[in-house]
Amino acid sequence: MELLTGIEGASSQSVVKIAARMPTVSARMGTFLARHAGERFCDECLVREMPLRDSEQARRAAGVLAARTAYRVEDDADCSRCDRIRRTIRALRAWL
Ligand SMILES: [Zn+2]
Repeated sequence: MELLTGIEGASSQSVVKIAARMPTVSARMGTFLARHAGERFCDECLVREMPLRDSEQARRAAGVLAARTAYRVEDDADCSRCDRIRRTIRALRAWL
């Protein structure tokens, strides 16, 4: 969990508390994308299919996943679901 690096000095109990507070939307999105590996999703389609609260939530979670090598964000790509040219994210492979 790369977000936890830099707090090695914290006790294991406080690390657990920090982890429990972290939003799980990006984790859910990562799992969802891995199940549909290779398919590109725009924010709107993620909101509809996962589902999520709104496209802002989708955009932020995609931003977290974009930092990982298992996912790829592309501007102006064909969304696999709505066929519109959008900013999309996809899992490069199914890791589950
Ligand atoms: Zn779409």
